[in-house]
Amino acid sequence: MSNEQSGAGEATPRPRTLVQMLPSYSRSPAAGKARWVASSNESWMSPSPAALAAMADSVQRSNRYPSLAGDRLVAALADTLGLSETQVAVGAGSLALLGQVLAAFAGPGDEVLYAWRSYEAYPILVTLAGARSVEVPLDAAHRHDTAAMRRAITERTTVVLLCNPNNPTGTVLAIGEVESFLAGVPGHVLVVLDEAYVEFSGSSGDTVPLLTKHPNLVILRTFSKAHALAGARAGYLLGPEDVVRAIRKVAPPFGLSAVAEAGAVAALADTDYLLGTVAAVSGEREFLHRELEALGLRVPDSGGNFLWIPENGRRAADIERACAAHGVSVRAFDGEGVRVTIGPRQASLAVLAALDEPGTARCAETRQAVPTTYPHHSTGGAS
Ligand SMILES: *Cc1c(COP(=O)(O)O)cnc(C)c1O
Repeated sequence: MSNEQSGAGEATPRPRTLVQMLPSYSRSPAAGKARWVASSNESWMSPSPAALAAMADSVQRSNRYPSLAGDRLVAALADTLGLSETQVAVGAGSLALLGQVLAAFAGPGDEVLYAWRSYEAYPILVTLAGARSVEVPLDAAHRHDTAAMRRAITERTTVVLLCNPNNPTGTVLAIGEVESFLAGVPGHVLVVLDEAYVEFSGSSGDTVPLLTKHPNLVILRTFSKAHALAGARAGYLLGPEDVVRAIRKVAPPFGLSAVAEAGAVAALADTDYLLGTVAAVSGEREFLHRELEALGLRVPDSGGNFLWIPENGRRAADIERACAAHGVSVRAFDGEGVRVTIGPRQASLAVLAALDEPGTARCAETRQAVPTTYPHHSTGGAS
């Protein structure tokens, strides 16, 4: 942990070597200037009015510390999901909880396995824990290759991360696929199901009942996406008691702010708001997906609030630039594709206009019949 003492006079504090190895988390450079921000999978809608009111109320008591471990939110989640409070941990976003999982279960000499491409925070957090990342390529359909992942497990593997739906490709493992994967994983390996987008994934099935059958499973969820509270920072983890106990031990005290907790408790209770958001996002996702395919692009079915446009004759950076010129910031992954967060209709139309420009999306070999007019364009406006 500590740096070597170096010669007097020239010593400056130096971070640990692994800090130099950390890749940095990036945001789209255009995000600050864009009219529509479609690069960070945020909700384009404001949070539930009930959550806003609860947060405003909580702000007034900001002289007080929150509870040590977010007790109110833990109780509300346990009650809603039919679990015991000892099976729930909360924190300042699900990323903070994933950091705790890795701090508790992965260290030097251990391997953490996940699909790639997947969430770009994974390699950062695994490196930070001092463990080694083992990345298993997605299959040709941009889905988890669960057979290859199972084969990549070694006696050094302590944690497997399953991002479902997968960020950034949107692809979904059905609950049956998750179950058969779990059946093939040795009991000493902790499987983390990262369900940041689960609310948008419709028919994929409820994974909470799997917790009773699999003592090596934890589920991570967040208020950042469907609940539109990305800026407040609140997430939760569901798992067996002994795992939750370990996660709580490595938690920073008072990690979840009282304001975030108040917002999350209110958001959790506001089911109508959530259903409205999910309906709006699914509707726009379906529209944009259909229109992108009409432009000759093959886009995988998405269970998230975003769509993945794989590179196909056009560079991701070029697509990103074209979208930026039309007022939309999207997220480019060089050599792989572009992720577009679902937004209001005007944002979808701007993306389609950008991609319809010669030299941006067209790919002579794959492009099929090209509609010259888009009936939905003229109606515009709907958000
Ligand atoms: C957005 C996202 C999260 C959420 O992180 P928070 O810290 O809860 O905001 C977690 N996992 C994935 C895959 C995500 O895309």
